[in-house]
Amino acid sequence: MFDSKDIILIHTHHKLVKFRILDSGKIEIRAPRDMEMPEVITMLNSHQRMIQNRIKLRSSRLYDFNIQDGSQIPFQGKDLKIQFADISPLAWKLDNELLINSKLQRLSPRLVKDFYNHHDILLKQRAKELGDLHGFPPVFIYTKWYKSRWGSYSKKHGMALNLALIMAPQCVIDYVIIHEYCHIKHPNHSKTFWQHLAEYLPDYQKQKNWLKSNAYLLNLIFNIQ
Ligand SMILES: [Zn+2]
Repeated sequence: MFDSKDIILIHTHHKLVKFRILDSGKIEIRAPRDMEMPEVITMLNSHQRMIQNRIKLRSSRLYDFNIQDGSQIPFQGKDLKIQFADISPLAWKLDNELLINSKLQRLSPRLVKDFYNHHDILLKQRAKELGDLHGFPPVFIYTKWYKSRWGSYSKKHGMALNLALIMAPQCVIDYVIIHEYCHIKHPNHSKTFWQHLAEYLPDYQKQKNWLKSNAYLLNLIFNIQ
């Protein structure tokens, strides 16, 4: 149910009611002068499902990859702010910034992809580290862009990690890696699989939830215009 703190009501002289979802997640309503807040709330609540879907969609598009000066791209659970600057070569990563050669005018999809590809070592190295730390048998580790999975393990091919994981916080990356290692012993998501996993990561559910609510990151790179 919506209430007035979710809503920004703007009265106009139009008869039509218009709404849009703001970056803050609030709903901006443009309504005729005689329409007051209680009426707006009743109207929104009667279309709750449709509006909530819109809010979901909006948040998945926050990273619209309308990539320009001042916009952001996700990196290790944080947002890197894109700044165009007089630098060479093409791009530099600072703490919280991604500096782009200003001659580029615009960050191309290709460059964004290259940026993540370039950091694949973060995943591979970490997988090796965690394997050594926990004494998992060594496996072949490779990275790839997948649309619908964060990682996979097969006896034949080894461990695959989705490059989109570079966008996720470290604890989430660790979860996916250990999850895949646990598949060496338990190929399926059986009860014993989860018990085994919990021995390494008692709070794995938290990371699992993060992946679920950030599933749109999986498609991000494929949606760049
Ligand atoms: Zn699995």
